[in-house]
Amino acid sequence: MQKSDTVAGGTPALEKVLAGEELSYSDGVQLMSEENLFLLGAAADKVRQKLCGDVVTFVASYYLNYTNVCAARCPLCAFYRKSDQSDAYTLSTEQIVARSKIAVEQLGATELHIVGGFHPKLGLDYYEKMIQAIKAEFPKVTIKAFTPAEIFFIARLTKNSVKEVLSRLKVTGLDSLPGGGAEIFHPDTRKQIVIGKCSGEEWLDTARQAHELGLKSNCTMLFGHVEKPEHIVDHVIKIRELHKKTKGFTTFVPLKFSLENTELEQKGLVTAESPSTYDLRVIAVSRLLLANVLNNISVYWVALGKKVAQVALSYGGNDMVGTAFSEEIFRAAGKETGTSTQELASLIREIKRVPAERDTFFNHIRSL
Ligand code: SF4
Repeated sequence: MQKSDTVAGGTPALEKVLAGEELSYSDGVQLMSEENLFLLGAAADKVRQKLCGDVVTFVASYYLNYTNVCAARCPLCAFYRKSDQSDAYTLSTEQIVARSKIAVEQLGATELHIVGGFHPKLGLDYYEKMIQAIKAEFPKVTIKAFTPAEIFFIARLTKNSVKEVLSRLKVTGLDSLPGGGAEIFHPDTRKQIVIGKCSGEEWLDTARQAHELGLKSNCTMLFGHVEKPEHIVDHVIKIRELHKKTKGFTTFVPLKFSLENTELEQKGLVTAESPSTYDLRVIAVSRLLLANVLNNISVYWVALGKKVAQVALSYGGNDMVGTAFSEEIFRAAGKETGTSTQELASLIREIKRVPAERDTFFNHIRSL
């Protein structure tokens, strides 16, 4: 270990990770529960610096939520509607292509991030036609669509295997998968925050199958509600172990839970959003648990707010996800969404880092 790779006052777990060793579950729990936040942040920042340098990336991404109709009813969610509600919607293929045109031609998006509710009546052909129609008009845009949770639901609904659904969508032009629906894998938390969604094991297995077919994906973790520190560590280690086998994840995105308009809020199960100190701890611990396995840790400014997102870039983050043009899920939970590449670049420059636009797969497209 080099002299510079230490944090004064750091505990054995911090010294261990700075020496390049992998952290155990109990190390992670100790860091989540007891470690001094500033020492933790300093260690995460050192690891980030070593693995990623000073460049902070983001993608010009357009969020397309094709339906808010959902067969599930997750207490964490402010987005879903039942099909007979007045504000329920499902976009037609024509509407999706029209939005894609705005995304690509007017906003300069290189990626379409397409997710929706678990619609109980849409067949696999709806998804195939959607992708085919977009690719016919815009062959160069990257389609990052359908979380492992959606893929699992579509497979069950249409009585196909997960592999069959993924293979058919890939043939039509699906490029990659978003990482949503992971929430918290541990059943003690999961059973309180989701109803009608796949289990943690099913999510991981669906991601594994996507990777084995050559599809890369993001992975997420929704934190800041009813989880325990152990569940954060368990979640990140499960991601780490799968990535060691498949190398299929592009980035890990810890997502801060947005409270407004959710059942967790309405039932008084969660009364306030998590403090920023907790958010920074989760991001730093994620960086340290994943060190030397998965290099990209994304900071989702939509959920954190732009100012805390800037701080989080000094607690292990090296990526700001994207411009999130037209993001509707967090907007339903009261968050400001959508920015420009110029604004993200300014936020990054303000903290003396180097902005770069990337593609979905973390290839740098241009410096800004
Ligand atoms: S989180 Fe997803 S699966 Fe759950 S209710 Fe909301 S849209 Fe449906």
